Amino acid sequence: MSRYSGDDGRRNFLIDAGIVTGGIILLPETALSELANYSRHYKLTDVYSPKRRTRPNRKSTRYIILHTTEGDATGALRKLSKRGEASYLLEKNGKIDRILKPKQISMGCGRSLWEGLYNLDNYSVNIEVEGYHNNGMTPKQYSSLKSFLSDLQKEYKVSDEDVIPHSQVAFGRPNKWHRRSHRGRKRCGMLFSTEKVREKLGLITKPRYDPDVAAGKLIIADKYLADVLYSGEDPSRKMPQIPESEDEDIAIRTIEKGHTIWEYAGDEFDSETTIYLLENGMIRRGDELKKIGYAFDKISPGLKIAVGYVYGGHVSKNRTAYSIVGEDWDLPSTIYISPDPERRKIITGDDVKESRIEPGTLILFRR
Ligand SMILES: [Zn+2]
Repeated sequence: MSRYSGDDGRRNFLIDAGIVTGGIILLPETALSELANYSRHYKLTDVYSPKRRTRPNRKSTRYIILHTTEGDATGALRKLSKRGEASYLLEKNGKIDRILKPKQISMGCGRSLWEGLYNLDNYSVNIEVEGYHNNGMTPKQYSSLKSFLSDLQKEYKVSDEDVIPHSQVAFGRPNKWHRRSHRGRKRCGMLFSTEKVREKLGLITKPRYDPDVAAGKLIIADKYLADVLYSGEDPSRKMPQIPESEDEDIAIRTIEKGHTIWEYAGDEFDSETTIYLLENGMIRRGDELKKIGYAFDKISPGLKIAVGYVYGGHVSKNRTAYSIVGEDWDLPSTIYISPDPERRKIITGDDVKESRIEPGTLILFRR
């Protein structure tokens, strides 16, 4: 059976006539920039987000990532729209809120890796679903999401296998529980990996194994999650939450008293992609510090580090942000550190105004 609901003739008829009937609601032409020419068995409403003004567009759209809010829609919508953390929110009543413009990047995945590709937000539509990672959706959510996914998949040519939950692509850097980069940082959206749910959404195929664990880039840190994703384990079983570091999505972290560098950077403590903001105002890479015999075991609290970032270098008159980072210069994952260590300002690419970048600003970026 076709993945797409309704035949072409019917769709065109509905759009030409612009009618609202039998639960099929068509938005005014101006709102159809993304999903023109598709049937709509759901109600799509644009909502305000301040990030609509600043967010760049995705490089391409290869994945649709599904999330669960773990709370009610009102609170979730406020937070998601304020920070531009999802492209869409699907409420319990089946209504879909469009938070950003169709092609703008939403910051839903944070640290993520899938099929060797980092920072999935740059290539994905993020859909937040009101509900819980181990609980079913309402019938209205099922019918809206099924139809919406099919429209998005058609629009962006995304296969069923590339419609996956957040927990499947999120990964953690080494921390106090795991010395290596690992899968199993979150359980967000886990239920969208199960055969039962996927079947109801019209998704026929799914990934059979974790490509990045297979490639040796990650280890499995949450066996229960891996069993749900790949072995048919029932996600509705009550399992204790994994210890989840709130700091994981914070780019620059401050070492707290009584903690070691290994709890923040694991085996990557002396890597060239671990960046240290030292107390004396200097900013150095882990491999540079290793060369000069830096005492990593005597690190003092208050020191700041960014793990998993490329040291881009400083902006100068003849060296623009664009020449350092290329087209990623305005991405939310690119970090700008102002030159004055006393009054250090750290902002992300999507909040930077090109004409206001001070000479001496240091740029870090994710590959
Ligand atoms: Zn999520």
